[in-house]
Amino acid sequence: MLFRVARKWVSGTTCKDALSAARNSNKRGISAILNFLGEDNTDNNSIELTVKEYSLILDFINKNGIDGSVSVKPTQVGLKRGYEECSHNLRQISKKARSLGKFMWIDIESFEYVQNTISIYLDLFKENSSIGVALQSYLRRSASDLLHLLEEGANVRIVKGAYRQREENAFQSMSEINSNFSKLTKMLFEDKNRNNIFAIATHDPRLIDNAIALSEKFGTDRRKFEFQLLMGIHNELKEILVKRKFKTSEYIPYGNQWLPYSIRRIRERKRNILLLARSILQP
Ligand SMILES: Cc1cc2nc3c(=O)[nH]c(=O)nc-3n(C[C@H](O)[C@H](O)[C@H](O)COP(=O)(O)OP(=O)(O)OC[C@H]3O[C@@H](n4cnc5c(N)ncnc54)[C@H](O)[C@@H]3O)c2cc1C
Repeated sequence: MLFRVARKWVSGTTCKDALSAARNSNKRGISAILNFLGEDNTDNNSIELTVKEYSLILDFINKNGIDGSVSVKPTQVGLKRGYEECSHNLRQISKKARSLGKFMWIDIESFEYVQNTISIYLDLFKENSSIGVALQSYLRRSASDLLHLLEEGANVRIVKGAYRQREENAFQSMSEINSNFSKLTKMLFEDKNRNNIFAIATHDPRLIDNAIALSEKFGTDRRKFEFQLLMGIHNELKEILVKRKFKTSEYIPYGNQWLPYSIRRIRERKRNILLLARSILQP
């Protein structure tokens, strides 16, 4: 029953499902960002399988002429076990992506993994400039992280943040999170580094409008930034952005490990809890 609800945000369990969703995005003028679901992996098998799966999906994207990239969570490739192991595994995926001319994003997870994720990213970025990392506007440290990343010429995706975090580390009110999101967005548009790219990843129409206004104010080249939204959320907004000729991408998760991702999506919106309740009550 829960999977019935989760299918709103998850393309399916196999990489075929993900490819078919990616084709559908491309038909609508939207790039695909494929994510093989999984996190907090600690056993060898699931970590190895994940690295292989990303290699496979990159081959599929390439062979099928999909306009797309991948997005990887550090804890699905070993960050919970250690820095070196995760770094080694992300390097394998980064090398594969690079060999095919594809972009790799690194998702950002709970606070405890943020520092290591950024350090690993910066190491790998020296070898492959076609990788990017996410930053969360709810974290108090993100403005200083962004400053550092921009000095290095990094590619950055700004998100609000999807994990519950302590007050000492994270803003708790939506108004503070939104205002930090706007601040980080402004820093990205003001940045004079012309080689990097960045992504505004939100479904919040006010923050999207704010980014559009900044792009017009700074006359930013539209190849330099993109809007990223999740599969199954605000499709009409994606259409509007495409019509207005803004590069738009859709984050498409797939795989058996759909539960933690779906719970985060359900928690994000009260209406989703009602949706879940209705689906349980309906035969
Ligand atoms: C491409 C992409 C990549 C991401 N990567 C990361 C990452 O690496 N690390 C991380 O911590 N977080 C990541 N996130 C998730 C992000 O942090 C937020 O949890 C999520 O995007 C919801 O916040 P919002 O910006 O849409 O704003 P909100 O204020 O939560 O939502 C704005 C509006 O969007 C709609 N909406 C939002 N969520 C839902 C939902 N679940 N169901 C239905 N409608 C909804 C509602 O209409 C809502 O009013 C990513 C998000 C995107 C779009």
